[in-house]
Amino acid sequence: MTTRIVALANQKGGVGKTTSAVNLAAALSEQGCRVLVIDLDPQGNASTALGVDHRVGVAGSYEILIDGLAMSEAVTMCPEVPEVAVVPATIDLAGAEIELVSTVAREYRLARAVERYLETQKLDFVLIDCPPSLGLLTLNALVAAQEVLIPIQCEYYALEGLGQLLKTVELVRAHLNPELMVSAILLTMADARTRLSGQVAEEVRAHFGDAVLPTAIPRAVRLSEAPSYGQTVLTYDPTSVAADAYRSAAQEFAAITAKETHN
Ligand code: ADP
Ligand code: MG
Repeated sequence: MTTRIVALANQKGGVGKTTSAVNLAAALSEQGCRVLVIDLDPQGNASTALGVDHRVGVAGSYEILIDGLAMSEAVTMCPEVPEVAVVPATIDLAGAEIELVSTVAREYRLARAVERYLETQKLDFVLIDCPPSLGLLTLNALVAAQEVLIPIQCEYYALEGLGQLLKTVELVRAHLNPELMVSAILLTMADARTRLSGQVAEEVRAHFGDAVLPTAIPRAVRLSEAPSYGQTVLTYDPTSVAADAYRSAAQEFAAITAKETHN
């Protein structure tokens, strides 16, 4: 069995990386997949949304990256969603960006840990929720992953900074991880009532073609409410439009085969 390892990356904050990571994880688990979410953002928003403790002192991605802790020592099961496991992020991770600079094999720390973990664990997906930067944390995610999923917010400036992200992916592929591909682009916070949102979606589809998942995630208050209850929208409001959108997107994403991945 092959495990798809996916980095959700975009150095812009607030584009829906975390929301997509946790809700895709929940939707994939509904569809029978075993999923591990690695929270790689010091804010720990994915840990919060998945209802997992991430107070200082909890073993998580910091200890894995900096202390070489085995991933199995940091994995906890999500209480709300079956078959979703989580590596939490504590605020300690904020220091890792600097601490990693002087660490041996600094770009490969996460990759090695994931590799070792997968020797004994059967998983369908590993989803890595990246921080809003292109520093060493995101670099570790891009080296550990085979695929990048880029969430793009349907707003002004949506494409701004995307060139830099794609260039980083290209550099990682050339020098650190030849497997890496941008496998999917997910449009988020789409608002059917505004023309702008439609125009941005059109522009992204014209630019990236088939890489863009057919389903765009609508802007929905339920999605922003769910994390404060330690939940994904699939458990918080299972019949909502937002939950259904993530179910569709997850199905489309799961159907992507290696052949179809885009550069
Ligand atoms: P990122 O991880 O890229 O910084 P988040 O997933 O945290 O982005 O989303 C940023 C904010 O927008 C959060 O408050 C989140 O709850 C909210 N949000 C994300 N997606 C949607 C959506 N489709 N509709 C409404 N709010 C959303
Ligand atoms: Mg985030």
